[in-house]
Amino acid sequence: MTAVAGAGPADAVALPWHRGPRPGTFALRRGFTGRAGQVVAEPDPDGRTVLLTVGLGPAGAATAATFRRAAVAAVRAAGPARTLRLDLAEAEGGPVPAPARARAVAEGAVLAAYRYDRHRSGPAQPLTEITVRTAHPEAVAEGVAVAEGVCLARDLVNSPGGELPPTEFARRVAGLAGGPLSCTVHEGEALIALGMAGLLAVGRGSAEPPCLVEIRYAPPVRAREVTLVGKGITFDSGGLSLKSQQGMCAMKSDMGGAAAVVGAVSAAVALGLPVGLRALLPLAENMPGPAAVRPGDVVRHADGTTTEILNADNEGRVVLADALLLARDPAPDALIDVATLTASVAHALGTRAAALFTGDEALAAELLGAASRAGEPLWRLPLLGSERRHLGSSVADRANASHRPGDAIQAALFLRDFVAPETPWAHLDLGSAAFNEESPHDETPHGATGFGVRTLVELLRGAGA
Ligand code: MN
Ligand code: MN
Repeated sequence: MTAVAGAGPADAVALPWHRGPRPGTFALRRGFTGRAGQVVAEPDPDGRTVLLTVGLGPAGAATAATFRRAAVAAVRAAGPARTLRLDLAEAEGGPVPAPARARAVAEGAVLAAYRYDRHRSGPAQPLTEITVRTAHPEAVAEGVAVAEGVCLARDLVNSPGGELPPTEFARRVAGLAGGPLSCTVHEGEALIALGMAGLLAVGRGSAEPPCLVEIRYAPPVRAREVTLVGKGITFDSGGLSLKSQQGMCAMKSDMGGAAAVVGAVSAAVALGLPVGLRALLPLAENMPGPAAVRPGDVVRHADGTTTEILNADNEGRVVLADALLLARDPAPDALIDVATLTASVAHALGTRAAALFTGDEALAAELLGAASRAGEPLWRLPLLGSERRHLGSSVADRANASHRPGDAIQAALFLRDFVAPETPWAHLDLGSAAFNEESPHDETPHGATGFGVRTLVELLRGAGA
């Protein structure tokens, strides 16, 4: 793959495509072996453009991820350039069809160019225009739509908690409504009427009121109906079960599930996917204010069952319980909740993968396949029934207790209590993967990752096929 990084406006950039990397040209002279991700740069004599050559590895071995990461390498190597043109080499054969290559390159380029620099006074991201030269512009548009959904989720997650309380999150989501996408924000009395006792209990400790956002996407043709539920704790202090200073630092990211759902819905609309979608986002700020829910308080859910709040920092499962009950009617063909539910999931999977919990084999296969195609590492963990014993309460039907080890499994079992048994349901725990506290890697920046968007879009794309 070749890329031209230019310092001038797009139409002023010289396009030396005809001098591409052929055997015997500069690329080989400079030690270019073609290894995947390798980049060599040759400044043009005019001083305005730089020709980058990006390796794709052995012919025939490249996957979509290879092309995505080649685009990432080009964007990273573009430095201070304002424009970047990507030209896909005419690879012969290989397992990745040309449209998929174009899509992966576009997706990787947009994901790599992402910056969250709203609060920086220094110079912004210099790169303002990326062009992909291809015979498949529709595939480029697809890749851009998916990547923009990821970037939308990243922006929401990166936004400081004080800047994005539940009502502001809801306002931003409502701004996406139009055409086949509608949005309702339930707040105040409406939450009581809907039986959102858990959401109200968790939100009580904050000066910022909780709300529940309901999104519907109803295209004219719908292959099936999918309901998505996203945990939206806009900031999690732990409530009265206050977190440590260190444990609280990245807690603006505790709405990473809701953000991933919003990003996926937005991409599904942009792609016109023929799938009916309902998204439920319980949004609250978990704070230790004077009205905060106390350990020992009991919440009565809409189904009449009760939960003793033993750990105010296990608020996610409590707000999700309400949303999962609401998701029962109308019954969807598939129900997927996405949540930064437990930090402990990282003990099993590290910090670059998320966990899948489901008892439905078909949905498990669909989600694992979608995640694999999307390039998001997703691993299935078991819903071990024996772990349910840690959710016992001496005064209520269950407790939101936390027992290590096994906390991620116990949290998933807690959620299962609220799902209609006949509904195919899956739970994605992003507690490990929504926020990258380390250096950037591949297409993942530091900070918000947007994890989950690409898997959900890929799943919905398959569902509509
Ligand atoms: Mn918490
Ligand atoms: Mn939380």
